[in-house]
Amino acid sequence: MAIASFAPDASDLPVVEVAESVQALPLNVVAGLGLQALKLFRSEVTRPNDTADTLLKRLGVDDPGAAAFLRTDVTARQALLGRAGRNVTVEANESNLLLKLSARWRADTGSNFKRLVIEKTPQGFQSRLESAALVASERLASASIDTSLFAATDDAKIPDAVANQVAEVFAGDIDFHRVLRKGDRLSVVYESLEGDGESLGTGRLLSAEFVNKGKTFQAMWFQDTTAADAPGADHLVAENSRNKGGYYTFDGQSLRRAFLASPVAFSRITSNFKMRFHPILGVWKKHEGVDYAAPTGTSVRSVGDAVVDFAGVQNGYGNVIILQHRNNFKTVYAHLSRILVRKGESVNQGQNIGAVGATGWATGPHLHFEYRINGVYRDPLTIAQVNETTPVSTAAKAVFAQLAAENRVALAAAASMQQSSAQ
Ligand SMILES: [Zn+2]
Repeated sequence: MAIASFAPDASDLPVVEVAESVQALPLNVVAGLGLQALKLFRSEVTRPNDTADTLLKRLGVDDPGAAAFLRTDVTARQALLGRAGRNVTVEANESNLLLKLSARWRADTGSNFKRLVIEKTPQGFQSRLESAALVASERLASASIDTSLFAATDDAKIPDAVANQVAEVFAGDIDFHRVLRKGDRLSVVYESLEGDGESLGTGRLLSAEFVNKGKTFQAMWFQDTTAADAPGADHLVAENSRNKGGYYTFDGQSLRRAFLASPVAFSRITSNFKMRFHPILGVWKKHEGVDYAAPTGTSVRSVGDAVVDFAGVQNGYGNVIILQHRNNFKTVYAHLSRILVRKGESVNQGQNIGAVGATGWATGPHLHFEYRINGVYRDPLTIAQVNETTPVSTAAKAVFAQLAAENRVALAAAASMQQSSAQ
C-alpha cells in the first residue's frame, strides 16, 4: 500500500482560527447515546486444556453466568472445551459480561463448516449449532528458497497442504528431494476455504510456478468441460478421463505422466533428510541406483502403472520389490521394512507398495531405487525425461488459453508481492 499526496505541503497552507459556540444536546439524545452501550469484540483460539473459565478469561469476559453455561450446555461444551485451534469471537458489554459468542470450524473434508452461536436472551443464554457452505476465495503467495521448501513456505505463510500439492503436481518433472537450490522461487495461487470470512482450510492449488536453477516450471488446474459434448463412440471414455480435471503447463500439455520423478512422496518429514549417494564401500562395487534416506516406515510408492515382477528377499537388497512397467521398463525398490504387494499383482502409479527400512546391506534406513530398460541400468535421475505429454483437447483450446492468461497475471502478481516484501 502507498499513500501519495498531490496537494501542496500542509505546513505551507495559511492557518485560520475558527471559533463557534457549541449547542448543548437535548437530554433525550444524551440518554439515547447511553443506551447505545459500548460493545467489545475479541477473538481467541481454543487450547486443548481449556476450561470454561480459562477460555473466557483469555477473551476478557468476566461473567460467572456465562462460565456456568459453557460448563453445563452440551453443545457449547462439545464445541469449545477439550478442542484446540478453534477461533472464538465474543461480543461483551462494557462490564465484560457476555452478549454473544461464536466459533467456526470444519467438521470434515466436505464443503460445509459448523458454526456455534451462544447468545444472551431475556430467558438466559442459548446455544445453537449451525451448518453453512464454505466459500472458496483465491489467495496468492510467493516464497524464496533459502534452506528448505518448508522453511520457505512457513515464512511465506503458505499452508503445508499447498506445499505438498505443489510437490505432487510437479511430481512427473521434479524430484524435490534432489533438485532444490538456494534462490529457487515458488509462486502459487490456491483456494482458501472460508466460513463467514474466516479461513478454515485450504482447497485446490489453482496454479503454480517453480523456478529451479533458472528453469521455470508452470502448472495450472484445468477441467475440460467441452469433452462432454464430443460425439462418437469415445464419448464416455473422453468424458471420464477429461472431466475429472488435472494440471497442465500454460501451453496446454498435461502434467500427468507415465512416471513420477520420485518413489518417495515429498513431505515435511522426508524433506529433512539429506540425499545419500554413497553406497556401502566394498559391498556394492558400482552403485546403480539412487538412495533416499527417510525414516523407517515412510511410504514407498510405485512411480508408474505396473505389474509386480518380484516381491520378497534378495541378498544385498533385503526386502525388495521389482515392478514391470510397459516397454520393458523395470523399477526396483530395496531395503524395505514392509512389502504390501504380491508377485503378479497390478499396481497403479502412486500406489503405496511398501515402507522404507534397512534390510539387506544397508547402514541405515533408506530406499534404494533403480530403473532399468531391457535389463540395462539407467540413471534414475533421468526417469522423468522419458515422459510423454498429452495436450489439452482441440475443442477446449480457446477456453484453456483464456484461463492460462488469467493464471499468468495472477502468478506474476504473486511473484511481485514476494519481491516487494523482500525489499
Ligand atoms: Zn543404494
